[in-house]
Amino acid sequence: MRKIVVKGAREHNLKGIDLELPQGAFICFVGPSGSGKSTLVFDVIGREAERRLLEALSPSIRQVLGPMRKPEVERIEGLCPPVIITRAQRQYGPRSTVGTATEIYDYMRILFARAGQPFCPRCQRPIRALPRERMVDELLSLDGKRIHILVPVKGEPAEKYLKEGFTRAMVDRKPVELEELPRGMPFDLLVDRLIVRSEERNRLRESLELALRYSSVVKVLVDDREVFLSPEPYCPFCELRFPPLTPSLFSFNAPEGACPRCNGLGEVDGEGCPQCGGKRLRQEALWVKIEQWDIATLGDLPIKDLLGVVDQLRVPPYLKEVLEAIRERLELLRRVGLGYLSLSRPMDSLSQGEIQRVRLSNELVMGLSGVMYLVDEPTVALHPKDQKEMLEILKDLRDQGNTVLVVEHDPETILEADWV
Ligand SMILES: [Zn+2]
Ligand SMILES: [Zn+2]
Repeated sequence: MRKIVVKGAREHNLKGIDLELPQGAFICFVGPSGSGKSTLVFDVIGREAERRLLEALSPSIRQVLGPMRKPEVERIEGLCPPVIITRAQRQYGPRSTVGTATEIYDYMRILFARAGQPFCPRCQRPIRALPRERMVDELLSLDGKRIHILVPVKGEPAEKYLKEGFTRAMVDRKPVELEELPRGMPFDLLVDRLIVRSEERNRLRESLELALRYSSVVKVLVDDREVFLSPEPYCPFCELRFPPLTPSLFSFNAPEGACPRCNGLGEVDGEGCPQCGGKRLRQEALWVKIEQWDIATLGDLPIKDLLGVVDQLRVPPYLKEVLEAIRERLELLRRVGLGYLSLSRPMDSLSQGEIQRVRLSNELVMGLSGVMYLVDEPTVALHPKDQKEMLEILKDLRDQGNTVLVVEHDPETILEADWV
């Protein structure tokens, strides 16, 4: 078996420690505080492993990172690339939440952009967007009906369209000559007028293309009924244009998605934002739903409850992988004992131990092997049940082909270790 060999470690208060550790094992370092176990694990083994990793990088990167001091040790062998998970390490800004730090929220944004149903924020009717070919299909389904394909025009002079070669328009569903329209009157530009037949597919497609060149909303008069078609979500009742459903619409860290009042922070002058109710997102984003859920409401659920919802969600087959990525990460957060947190919890409101466990769950997702995990007191402040789960996780890391070095006081952890 390969070994990690440390000879003559003299960092801080260490007095020439010699040590041989088996690689690929779960190893516990025990001792009273001040005995130098943290120094040995983090300042000697961890730092030297990091330093060697840097040495292997290109000179230009090393220049940016600056030189690293070599720890006081005669010889170290058998190191692997380190992943260091101490308790106090990273500062998180106010825009970082459990959801963003674990990337779960990023997957949820993809899910909502692809599978979300938008509702009109004003009248609450479901609204829709149609790809162009689907618009053609929709018109073809009106077989035998007389239709007018129109472009609604407001605040633009009729001359503009006369110059483009159009001659006719409709006002209140009555045909008029473009030339005869009074200035400033809103009208519907007539693009085409026909009786729908299945052999008219090309003509319908061309007329729709032409209409969409002038407006993102096409009005189709079918007998006396008006139908609105748009490649972007649009509410014809409120004449309200909905922003395109992209992942950034659901990001409070992007201008497309952030609540304009609080800029996505959820707070104004230290108090909850009155416009978004602390949900950080612009109104439209909150009106996109999957089943009865909007993305912010899901983010406010405790992770253990969110898991239950995710298990029940029905999404199109091509989104199954996205849903599975979400489920897997939520499950890991639950396993590290954070099932009571919500994805919307700001990272800077978590305790050091909670942050450490979020990071641990991120490491588990990556599924690395052949690395050395250096973990500082992973079970501190955990309930006994969660401590057991944490031990299982550390053993999982080992079973993935990694070496796990843990500095620990907890007797349960120590008992479970391969090597103390
Ligand atoms: Zn509406
Ligand atoms: Zn707000």
